[in-house]
Amino acid sequence: MRECKQDENLAKCTCTYEPCSRKGLCCECIMYHQKYGELPGCLFPPEVERTYDRSIARFVSIHK
Ligand code: SF4
Repeated sequence: MRECKQDENLAKCTCTYEPCSRKGLCCECIMYHQKYGELPGCLFPPEVERTYDRSIARFVSIHK
């Protein structure tokens, strides 16, 4: 089984939502947002990420 790289992931995490227990646990982060039809914060540019709108619609709107 592969080892979790939480510390390494945390160093690269661009999410500004505090506190979040899923930070650095990318698999949990993806599963959590997928459940709500969303994407992880790191897939959004900083000005959108900080709005906490992680919807797929918002993601599509910025990539048109
Ligand atoms: S994107 Fe969502 S689940 Fe992932 S670290 Fe940020 S607030 Fe937590």
